[in-house]
Amino acid sequence: MKTEELIAEANKNIMSTYKRFPLVIIKGSGARVWDSDGNAYLDFVAGIAVCSLGHSHPKVVDAIKKQVERLSHVSNLYYIEPQIHYARLLVENSFADKVFFCNSGAEANEAAIKLARKYTHAHMGKDKCELITMRDSFHGRTLATIAATGQEKFQLGFEPLPSGFRYVPFNDLTALEKAVNDRTYGVLLEPIQGEGGVKIPDRGYLEGVRKICDDHQILMILDEVQVGMGRTGHLFAYEDYGIKPDIMTLAKAMGNGFPVGAMLATERIASVFVPGTHASTFGGNPLAMAACIAVLETILEQKVLENCRKQGLYLLEKLAGLKSKYKSIKEIRGKGLIVGMELTIDGSKIVERCLRRGLLINCTAENVIRFVPPLIVSKSEIDQCVGILDEAMQLS
Ligand SMILES: *Cc1c(COP(=O)(O)O)cnc(C)c1O
Repeated sequence: MKTEELIAEANKNIMSTYKRFPLVIIKGSGARVWDSDGNAYLDFVAGIAVCSLGHSHPKVVDAIKKQVERLSHVSNLYYIEPQIHYARLLVENSFADKVFFCNSGAEANEAAIKLARKYTHAHMGKDKCELITMRDSFHGRTLATIAATGQEKFQLGFEPLPSGFRYVPFNDLTALEKAVNDRTYGVLLEPIQGEGGVKIPDRGYLEGVRKICDDHQILMILDEVQVGMGRTGHLFAYEDYGIKPDIMTLAKAMGNGFPVGAMLATERIASVFVPGTHASTFGGNPLAMAACIAVLETILEQKVLENCRKQGLYLLEKLAGLKSKYKSIKEIRGKGLIVGMELTIDGSKIVERCLRRGLLINCTAENVIRFVPPLIVSKSEIDQCVGILDEAMQLS
């Protein structure tokens, strides 16, 4: 089928929940993808922070191939070998003592909210019924996670929403301290707000949130769905702040494209989940776990985090060069390889111009160009990206 036919077919049969670019991507390798007309693109979207090891990473491909020939699926009524190995790897490399596996970021956050509520009911009584979350946050698209998400645009039309959420501004400890009351059982937040426009909190903020949670004996839940698994140059973003959450959620980069999610917690909290309290048919599926093991081993063995930190700094430096050239660039901010470029103009035009020149980037919060390339991206690929961006900016 021709590209136009494929697109017509898609529009006919698929619910239009996405505004899509007129492009059918059929193949990928490293930081590059190809469309159905044979055009190549440098991919600085990477499935939105999913394909952190680059497309079709040989170790991940090999792990999935071997696993699919052996066993694709078995119920969690039985023990699953790669799940056992991956859970140990996660526990050994994080604050957590226990893991629950699911299939997406929203599901991981649902599981976190359920676990926090169950723990609170068991240990603090039913009067504690409020979870504080942040304005401009993003936690997923299920009913509970849109209620947790502090952005009205994701909630409108879906009322009544599950109750028990209260919003405060991000990066504001005073507002948080004020909002905590007798009903509060926890705080849920992203270490860096991704969808909200790559918002990086001030030094001391996450430490301050931890302290408020400790002072009031409430739970600190970190949504590391976007920044976990290496994106900030640390395996988990919290590591850089000298704090530990009580519960953490992961998804996007875990399987390098294989759909998977996880919710991690300390033993004390996890122990309220007993047989029957929560479940997932596909959670911890052998194929997903095989992909996840390959991803985590590669990150731990192959200097992926080092490259992420190094290229992240290089990208910031190159973008600072662009900023001194164009007035329409308001701010550049980033940590590791999650980088935002805030514009005073509409970002979608820039994204389209880059696309036509062979660069995939994404615009979030209307005017923030977000760069989330594979963590294995090279210096020359960054040069190429910024070169294209420079051309695109010249026209505005
Ligand atoms: C993407 C994202 C989610 C939702 O993940 P899905 O897999 O789309 O359900 C939740 N939280 C954060 C921080 C995200 O970036």
